[in-house]
Amino acid sequence: MLRNTGGQSAGWLALLAGAAIAAGVVVIWYVIDQRAHEHANLATEHTADVTQLLIRQDVENRFTALDRLAQRWSASKITHEAWLADARRYLADMPGFLTIEHADESMQEIWVASVVPGRPSPGQGAAAAEQLAISVNAARESGAAAISAPFEIPQAGLAIAVTFPTFREQQVDGRITGVLQLEPWLGAVIGGVQNTDHHVRVSLRGQKVYEHAAFDDVHDSSSTVHSEFEVRGLSWNIEITPTGNFLSAGHADSSSLVLIAGLLVSLLVAVVVYLALIFRAQSHEFHDTATQLATLLKNLPGVAYRRANEPGWPMLFVSDGCRALTGYSRHEIGASHKPWQELTHPDDRENVSRQMQQAIDADESFELEYRIINKSGDEHWVWERGRAVESEVSSEIHIEGFVSDITDRKVAETELIEARAFSDAVLDTAADAVITFDANGTIEIFNRAAQEMFGYSLEEARAENVGILMSESYRSKHGNYVSTYLESGETHLVGVGREVMARRKDGGLFPIHLSVSEVHDRPERKFVGLIRDLSSQRAAENEAREHRGHLAHLDRLNMLGEMASGIAHEINQPLTAISLFSQAGIRLVDADKRDQIPEIFEKLVEHANRASAVIERMQTMTRQHDSLKEIVECDVLVEGVARLAEAEARIRDMTIEVDTEDNLPNVSVDAVQIQQVALNLLRNGMESMQSVERRHGNTIGLRSRLLDDGEIEISVIDRGTGVSEEVAETLFAPFSTTKKSGMGMGLSISRAITIAHGGHLDFTNNNFGGATFFFTLPPAEKEDQND
Ligand code: ADP
Repeated sequence: MLRNTGGQSAGWLALLAGAAIAAGVVVIWYVIDQRAHEHANLATEHTADVTQLLIRQDVENRFTALDRLAQRWSASKITHEAWLADARRYLADMPGFLTIEHADESMQEIWVASVVPGRPSPGQGAAAAEQLAISVNAARESGAAAISAPFEIPQAGLAIAVTFPTFREQQVDGRITGVLQLEPWLGAVIGGVQNTDHHVRVSLRGQKVYEHAAFDDVHDSSSTVHSEFEVRGLSWNIEITPTGNFLSAGHADSSSLVLIAGLLVSLLVAVVVYLALIFRAQSHEFHDTATQLATLLKNLPGVAYRRANEPGWPMLFVSDGCRALTGYSRHEIGASHKPWQELTHPDDRENVSRQMQQAIDADESFELEYRIINKSGDEHWVWERGRAVESEVSSEIHIEGFVSDITDRKVAETELIEARAFSDAVLDTAADAVITFDANGTIEIFNRAAQEMFGYSLEEARAENVGILMSESYRSKHGNYVSTYLESGETHLVGVGREVMARRKDGGLFPIHLSVSEVHDRPERKFVGLIRDLSSQRAAENEAREHRGHLAHLDRLNMLGEMASGIAHEINQPLTAISLFSQAGIRLVDADKRDQIPEIFEKLVEHANRASAVIERMQTMTRQHDSLKEIVECDVLVEGVARLAEAEARIRDMTIEVDTEDNLPNVSVDAVQIQQVALNLLRNGMESMQSVERRHGNTIGLRSRLLDDGEIEISVIDRGTGVSEEVAETLFAPFSTTKKSGMGMGLSISRAITIAHGGHLDFTNNNFGGATFFFTLPPAEKEDQND
């Protein structure tokens, strides 16, 4: 991060420096370029001046030469040979003169000196003759030098004629005429200053007479220098134009070079600045990293180290925690290359050395736990992680890593292991099953008693859900108690003990007493279940109850048998008496002895009352027997009855279908009496079904459910004959029976029992055949339950 930021800002700064220098270079380049232009213009003007000067001087020279020739003639008459010698010298000295001729006044005798021997006089050309004549006449008339206009000489180009008059005794007596061939003349005069940098054009009296073209004809006419001047009556015009090359030579030679060099320098400066800034940022970063590393090492809960890969593992470097870990200073360990093996516990040395060597050979990191002996001789457990690293500088192999003190953890671990062993021993010797599970119901601890009770081994039970230990109905009803508890804190199950049905591995159900409590002070929620097997207790209770029921049943049959004979005896007497007194009464009426009739009626009432007393005594007896009320779960009650009747049903080839509603309140009843009632109803139902030879089915229902008014209703639903209206009228009366061997007391007593329990008994015929006999019981009062 730091490096990136440094790199970016260095990049920008370098770019800025480069750009500034480049801008400076461009300014310098511009100034130099302007100076180069000025220099070129000056050079052109200078060329024009020199050219003008040369022409001016040469014209003067030649005119002076001709003038001198004329004056020599005028001073003394010289011979033809002498004159010719002078004229030829001039021709040789002054290139450009085509001819020099002398004529006398009569123009008869003409001396001609010519560059080309035998060349005819230029005056022979028509144009030349005309211009020659003009100049000669002008000179004669003015008595001064006269110059012709430029004229064309065949094969010789343009020329001018210059005529000087000659005098004898102040009279014009002849002339000297020189014909100047313009191009060779000017070439000789100004050729010396011509170069490839300028075009030169010379015009005389408006007519181009000379031109010098440079090789490079691409030129800038705006830079042309014009120079006009007059010499000896001749008007000249010179045009000097610099070539394009000459003008741009300044760039290539100096300014362009400066520009390129400058830009290269800018680039160089930018690169140098960039590198300098990067280097600075990196050195900052390096410094920061070093500081951070030092702080980090100082605060480490242990020691970072580097060891030589040599026998005994001598230390090369240790960080600040050295003294805390070993008791030795950094100097004692690191600077003096103390072999680490000396600190390692003698019993652990070989193991540590071997494991480290294996990791180094395999180029892997190693992780070890072993003991060291510190400076004061105390034993400490350490954890070490390291790896072989090749030094970038010397390519030696070093071991680098980290060692920290884990003595406290080791002690805690040992204590934990001991505590675990102790609690395991306690759990395994406990007679009750102990199970722990988490908030999801996943089993963790499953002690030996639990394994024996449920038939699962520890491995099988662990990680399973506690649901596997519950009966189907219980699981569907109570399976979510743990989550309900977690969500709402409601304790249906957790924290209270209750009796429930559990399920073994083989599927068998058995009653248990279960209490579950939450283990607090843990990061995640945990529950402990203590389970006691109630099978044997329940079996004993059931046996006792069955035994009692059986006895009660026999008791009751005995009692009924006795009652039957008692009743027969008791009631026979008043009935016989009533019969006798009635007959006696009839006879008295027949004999019209009406005064004795009231006595007869009194006797009748007396004996009827006696019979009624017999019946009442019988009812009282059924009602008054010692009631043993207890709090019973309806499920248990109904399932108990079903079990009692099961054998009889099997003999009759019938099935009892039990249907109990969930969450029925408990009832406070004499369980034996109530089971007797239900048993009686089941038996009647089965007999009724038997009488129609199970034509309508062989299933008899035993159902419990909660009524809207809060009462519990227990019904027996048969598929027998049903109850005819006739029988129904006396159904619940004692001795009302349709059976040959029946006593007709069952329903009567049953009704009496249910009424004594605060309920009632009744029946209804089924739509699908048979009858449903049912009785109700009030739920147990809170106080009863508490008892
Ligand atoms: P017993 O069984 O000795 O006859 P009960 O008082 O138990 O005496 O029954 C009285 C009578 O009621 C029976 O004789 C029978 O006619 C009738 N009864 C009882 N239960 C049923 C039933 N489930 N279906 C048809 N009739 C019944």
